[in-house]
Order: sequence, then C-alpha cells, then structure tokens
Amino acid sequence: MPVVTRFAPSPTGWLHLGHAYAALFAAEQASQQDGRFLIRLEDIDATRSRPEYEKALFEDLSWLGLHWEQPVRRQSDHAEDYQAALQQLKALGLLYPCFCTRKEIQEEIARAGQAPHGPDGALYPGTCRSRPMSQQQDMIAKGIPYAMRLNVEKAASFVHKELFWEDAACGVQLATPSIFGDVVLARKDTPASYHLAVVVDDALQGITLVTRGEDLFAASHLHRLLQELLHLPVPRWHHHRLILDGNGRRLAKRDDARSLRTLREEGLRAEDIREMLAD
Ligand code: GLU
Repeated sequence: MPVVTRFAPSPTGWLHLGHAYAALFAAEQASQQDGRFLIRLEDIDATRSRPEYEKALFEDLSWLGLHWEQPVRRQSDHAEDYQAALQQLKALGLLYPCFCTRKEIQEEIARAGQAPHGPDGALYPGTCRSRPMSQQQDMIAKGIPYAMRLNVEKAASFVHKELFWEDAACGVQLATPSIFGDVVLARKDTPASYHLAVVVDDALQGITLVTRGEDLFAASHLHRLLQELLHLPVPRWHHHRLILDGNGRRLAKRDDARSLRTLREEGLRAEDIREMLAD
C-alpha cells in the first residue's frame, strides 16, 4: 500500500514557517516512500476562515515548490459526512447535548475549587452529562443552543479493549482518550469539532500516515478511540518538532513578521526557507 500523507491548514491567517515545515515534512514523507501527498482545507470554522487566506495559502505552497493532488478536500463542503459520524455515535448512546456556555463551565469549575486538567486545560465538569432525556428535549425545543459531547468513559468501556496507536518517532502508544474528558464533537456554531472532522476526513481521504506537529500528539489518543467507534481504518502517525520563535514559543498566525509572504517580500527564496527549516 503506498503511503498517503496530507497537509491540513486552516485558512484563518497567513502561513508561517511552522506551516512550511509541516507541509514540507508531509510531502517529503510521501515522496521518500513513493506515496501520495494531499491537501485538505480545514475551513469548517466559517467565522474565522477567509477566501483571501485560502488563495494565499495555495500561492505560498506553490512558491515553496510543493505539488499536491486535485481535488483538494474542503471541510465546508462535507457537513453531511460529519453528520453521519455524529449519528453513528449518537445511535450508540455515546453523545449528549451540552447547553453550558463557556462562562457557566468556568463558574462550575471555580465552585468545585479544583478541576482535573487535560492537554487543553481544565476538563469539562460534566454538568449536562446526566440530564434526563425529557429535560434535554425541552431545552432543545426552547431553542437553547447546544454542543454535542462525547461521554468518554462510556465510549471507552463500550470498546472494552485496550487500544494502541503508533507514532513513527515515539513508537507504540497505549491510547488514553479520557485525558481530554468529555470533548465537544459538534460545536454550537459548526457541524463538527476538529477532533471529529480530522478522523472522518483522514479516513475518507485514505490517509495512511498522519504527520503533524507534536503539539497534537495527545489528540491522537482520542482520535484512536473515535476511529474504533466509527470503524475507520487506523493510520500511522508521525508527530514532528515545532518551529519556535526567538523566545522559544511556538509560532502563531498572529506573528505576521514570520509569514511566508513577508519573508518572500523581503527577498527570501523558497530554497532559503527549505534551508532554514532543515533538520
Ligand atoms: N488544521 C490543523 C492545524 O492547522 C491540522 C491538524 C492536523 O494535521 O491534524 O493545526
């Protein structure tokens, strides 16, 4: 089976050196193994995605010398795929509607005095987990906005076996999806959260090697569980290093000084970027 990799940017800002590294890494893994390299536009968050960023990211990637297969998968065109996955999980009784606002969650955590923390901060305290069905229906009928959360303990016991996944750099890992608590799989304003969309998309695009930054290493524990629940093929992963700024912080889109377009305007060539990012 040929290796299939992907680069999955969100068109919510200009690409920077960190993106260039991730894109080159994915393309290189594919070419080293005589495989295929795909791009996916993670534009499901309509409030933050912009056409001008999308146009620019293709320009930047071409300028870097990358080639990718057509068509590019665009998340915003595939709401029904995420809906189908949510339905499957719902039919298993593993989802529940969560009506809490961010503020209410913070207040609940403050009341409790302490909260278990996961890779993304304090875990959801479970306020809506055991709402009776009649109350849920009532609140939905009243038009109160809600997200859909995964009951992660129930989901893990539903699988009732240990799950493993493999990272090319760190080896075989025992999946510990509960570190994230009851994650949101469909947000109030978007049809799928990152976690749900990424496992559905990777499966539908036939990705066999998921390459991405090591900041998303922990997310793979949860993705492995979702793949099992949804009967999706399990890829391999390769989490790579992050490109840091002069202060040792991960580059963010707001650091415009380091955007590829700025570097290009300053006269840098694609070869210079590749050289800067060489391991
Ligand atoms: N859109 C995600 C990001 O930019 C991609 C994450 C992934 O590759 O799974 O961080």
